[in-house]
Amino acid sequence: MPASNEAAIGASEHAKVEAQFGKFMTGPVANYVNSVGQKVAAHTERKDIQYKFYVLDTPMVNAFALPGGYTYFSRGLLTLANSEAELAAVIGHEIGHITGRHAAERMSRGAVAGIGAAVIGAAVGGSAGQVANLGSNLYLSSYSRNQEHQSDELGVRYISRAGYDPMSMAKFLASLDAQTKLQSGGKSNATNYFSTHPLTADRVQQARVEATKFPANNNLNRAAYLTKINGLTYGDSADQGFTKGNRFYHPAMDFTFSIPKGAKVQNQPSNVAMAHPNGSLVVFDAAKSSASPASYLQNEWLKGKAQSRIETANINGQSAATTGFEGVVNGKQVDLRFTAIQYAPGKYYRFQMAIPKGTSSAFVTELKETTYSLRKMTGAEKASLQPKTLRVLTAPSGATIQSMSARMNVEGDKTQYFRVLNGMLNGQTVQAGQPYKIVM
Ligand SMILES: [Zn+2]
Repeated sequence: MPASNEAAIGASEHAKVEAQFGKFMTGPVANYVNSVGQKVAAHTERKDIQYKFYVLDTPMVNAFALPGGYTYFSRGLLTLANSEAELAAVIGHEIGHITGRHAAERMSRGAVAGIGAAVIGAAVGGSAGQVANLGSNLYLSSYSRNQEHQSDELGVRYISRAGYDPMSMAKFLASLDAQTKLQSGGKSNATNYFSTHPLTADRVQQARVEATKFPANNNLNRAAYLTKINGLTYGDSADQGFTKGNRFYHPAMDFTFSIPKGAKVQNQPSNVAMAHPNGSLVVFDAAKSSASPASYLQNEWLKGKAQSRIETANINGQSAATTGFEGVVNGKQVDLRFTAIQYAPGKYYRFQMAIPKGTSSAFVTELKETTYSLRKMTGAEKASLQPKTLRVLTAPSGATIQSMSARMNVEGDKTQYFRVLNGMLNGQTVQAGQPYKIVM
């Protein structure tokens, strides 16, 4: 594929990234990521590419690249990295995918499927992992094991040439692995990085071995990096919405709804997915249309495929339409349920549900309650929902992991969270005078 084709594909996919993730971050942090990126990109083999670096305002930990030099790094990834060298390593890895023409390879293999998944296809799966791939497309589909190894190798080479500690790739992958394990029991926003860049059992070790092929170099630019990310929003932002208690809140879009008990929530840029261990799945999202609820549901959302009557309803003062029918999804018999709620002129909020046959009637009632719980947020709710912030503190003398982590505003084991957040995975202790990240 000639470079001019890659550039054209990149430009068209870039527009889709912007549509899915909203506007890119601007300001000092975005400028910094770009400057580190340009430094790393100067050492690549492909000089026919103009590399571009974007920061996505999402708590998910992810990074991806498009043909033509477009690369993306999430805010969640920036708060997890512990040095400029680690950021450079992730950048080097993404550039490696571009150097290796991996995305172009996937496209010519025809591996890019399901862009804008069909509506009923979207309500399938029954596991949070599959929900994460909703609307899967070029940039969020998974690389092969070989492509991952090649990009790690290239990334290590580039950061070594750029003057950073080549071990930083292995360190960052180990942090990602620890973060994924820490959050796998949590409710929301688990690491998505490994869904695009699979973690094979030997990947961290291979990155370590690769680093030994280059001159040892302990340049991390750790303090400079931490100064740059000090004050970044941590986790969900008002623009992206929050999970709190048994409800989901979105201050910027002014809505809240209840979460079915026991469901695992994935707050993704284009939807909120809730998966329950019993196989039930709920996907909430937004759409634009000026049609009436019944007409919108039948003709636009379901494209005439509704197999039973459309009922109208009033949900907390908003006009709505709903329908349901049976379906077979991934070989499983499910009841499908679709509800469109006209939230403002021209604007719909939608729930789609897939409920396996045999689900208890109590749980089906709970799912129904979720649909009927959508409402505007109260002033008190808005005032009480402030985003968390990443703060970088210098350890005073006598400080310990216990004393530093006691100030963390996180759920669960604070000391373990502190260790993972600061990449202290091998029994390191807090050093007085050194900067550390905490969540406030
Ligand atoms: Zn990768």
